[in-house]
Amino acid sequence: MLLHALIPASRANGPGLRSVVFFQGCQIGCVGCWNPQTHAFHGPEVTVDDVVRQVLEARQEYPLEGITFSGGEPMQQANGLLQLIQGLRHQAPELSFGMFSGYAEHELVKGQYWIPNPSIAALGVGETSPRAVTRAFGRCPRCGGEESGVVAGRREPCPAA
Ligand code: SF4
Repeated sequence: MLLHALIPASRANGPGLRSVVFFQGCQIGCVGCWNPQTHAFHGPEVTVDDVVRQVLEARQEYPLEGITFSGGEPMQQANGLLQLIQGLRHQAPELSFGMFSGYAEHELVKGQYWIPNPSIAALGVGETSPRAVTRAFGRCPRCGGEESGVVAGRREPCPAA
C-alpha cells in the first residue's frame, strides 16, 4: 500500500488520542483540498504488516483510544485498508476506528468509490466491497454502535464521544 505519513498520536483527527494513517493517492479532486501533496499515486510503499507494527508500537508509547484513516483517499486502496483494519482489530481489539473519506456515505454504500483504472488495480483498488470494509470496523467500544465511527466525512459522530 502507498502511505503518505503515519502520526503515532494526535488529538486533532477524531475523538481522543489516536494514531493517524494517511494514505497516499487520491483522484477525487475536492475544491480547496487541504492536502494536495497526497494526490499522486506514488510514494513510499509499505506492507500492511509494517503499518500494523507501527501502530502497535505507538500503542505501547501512548494511551491510544483509536486509529484514524485519512489521506489521500483510504477507500481508493480499499483492499489494503481492509487488511489493515483486520490486522489491527485482531491485535488491538480495544482500539476504535475512524475514517475521513472524500466520498459521501451513500456513495460508499453503493460501492461508488473506486476508480476503474487498471494501472491502479495493482494497488488493490476495485476488488473489495464497501460493506466488507465497513463491517470490518466492528462495533464502537464507546456506544456499542455498529461500524465503530466510520465517518466517511459526513457521518454523525459517536453519540458517546
Ligand atoms: S478526498 Fe481528501 S485528499 Fe482527496 S481531494 Fe478531497 S480533500 Fe483532498
